[in-house]
Amino acid sequence: MKKTQILSEGYTKVVYDTDDPEVTVIEFKDTVTAFRNIKRATIKGKGRLTCRVSSLIMGYLNSKGLKTHFVKEDGDNGQVCLKVRVIPVRIIMRNAAAGSIVRTFGIPAGTALKHPVVEMTYKNNDLDNPIINRDHADALGIATYQETEAMIETSRKVNSLLCELFASIGVQLVDFKIEFGYTADGTMVITDEISPDTCRFRNMSDGRQMDRDRYRYDQGDIIDTYQELTNRLEKAL
Ligand code: UDP
Repeated sequence: MKKTQILSEGYTKVVYDTDDPEVTVIEFKDTVTAFRNIKRATIKGKGRLTCRVSSLIMGYLNSKGLKTHFVKEDGDNGQVCLKVRVIPVRIIMRNAAAGSIVRTFGIPAGTALKHPVVEMTYKNNDLDNPIINRDHADALGIATYQETEAMIETSRKVNSLLCELFASIGVQLVDFKIEFGYTADGTMVITDEISPDTCRFRNMSDGRQMDRDRYRYDQGDIIDTYQELTNRLEKAL
């Protein structure tokens, strides 16, 4: 299987077409961004670590019977993935308050939520990825009721599995973002990435942030922290 042309390129990943019509190769870049990509930096080794964590998590979800786009790792910072048509919706799952929910509701960061909170945003950078509900999604032709229900149900399963997995390595899963798409045969699969760039993780023993917030809020080196998270996950899986 050989890479052919670039299908798409964002700040943090490049998606390559291949000579196999069913698969792509996704390469994770060293770019890290924050605040709607206004703050940006290149941090050597970051792509290798987000790729590794995402591979471990997607592989774990596959092993638990959930369907993801992940097929296998490809070199240090690449993955062979099923080719998907991405649904333009982001599902956000929250177990404790952080980020935008803190700003929206004026509650202290870290506030426990009585139960997981699901949010949906419309994946559209020009509109700053607005929050939507299932009515918006269906009425505007973004995703049908059936599709949003399926994405939310799977996201809840992912949340349960990952809360348990991360708790076993002494890490609280505060919140995360997840995306979905369809493979050529019409199967809905988890796509994009699940990594410290797209989740918030707190070290249980000392409350230390182990995710992109370290970069967002200048909390120091991210490579050491991402590496520590990777090491713990590798031991657990
Ligand atoms: N998130 C993401 N990409 C985005 C927006 C959010 O991966 O474009 C993740 C973010 O890292 C966090 C969760 O989704 O784990 C919830 O983010 P939030 O709505 O709090 O937004 P933020 O604080 O980043 O503005």
